[in-house]
Amino acid sequence: MPSHFENNEPVLELDVLDAIENAATLLQTKPYTVALAGAGISKESGIPTFRGNDGLWTKNGEPPLDQYQRFIDDPLDWWHTRLVNSKGAFAQTLDNAAPNKGHTALAELEKLGILRHLITQNIDDLHRRAGHLSLTEIHGNRLWMRCIECGDRLPLDEFTYDPTLLPPRCTIGDCNGIIKSDTVMFGEPIPRAALAKSQVESAKAEVFMAIGTSALVYPAAAYPLEAIQNNKPLIEINPEVTQLSEYATIVVRAPSGTALPLIVERIRELNLVIQ
Ligand SMILES: [Zn+2]
Repeated sequence: MPSHFENNEPVLELDVLDAIENAATLLQTKPYTVALAGAGISKESGIPTFRGNDGLWTKNGEPPLDQYQRFIDDPLDWWHTRLVNSKGAFAQTLDNAAPNKGHTALAELEKLGILRHLITQNIDDLHRRAGHLSLTEIHGNRLWMRCIECGDRLPLDEFTYDPTLLPPRCTIGDCNGIIKSDTVMFGEPIPRAALAKSQVESAKAEVFMAIGTSALVYPAAAYPLEAIQNNKPLIEINPEVTQLSEYATIVVRAPSGTALPLIVERIRELNLVIQ
């Protein structure tokens, strides 16, 4: 019995084990691999998703589609609300969340020289905390602040401002742009630097991975779809069927926290055999 069946690990169906073997075989040759990660990987750290049956927005209603325009119209109101609500229940859940085995395995795939860039839709900082380096947080990071004019970003714990002079303004050169949370709002353009990096890296990809993402939100969803159109192998890791599933070269129908560590373990075994 392989060691990964011990310690109460879930027993996987044979087709899932086959898919893990196929993914490891494809990745162990070290193709330039780019991944898109979605809410599914954060969900395994106890962070509720926005969409789906138990989604926060499904239960509580979606934020207004013109959320960003409302911010532009009245940034002072947003800042006042933030000062009151910054420790709401969702923020506390995020504060208490820790990276899971999926996050760690992705960081290991990076160290192995396989995963060259990770585009994440998650704002929760867990990829950074897992040690990931080449990372685009396409929807921002909740623990950073950003100037809406020049796009400069600063960790929240290094950010200081005068609460009597709201909204805070950018101090870089003569920018003077309004500062907001780095998290991208509804209706807000994706920051140019994040978009450019995602496009450049996706174009370089020889293999693309889609992990825990329903691939419904653009522009993030465009990257795996482009890979499909360009006949690049797509590995999907998701316990749920998505719109990518029928086009994926390899579908690992399992949670990322289960599948990714097994893929990494198998890559290491294959590399030992080759060496
Ligand atoms: Zn600025």
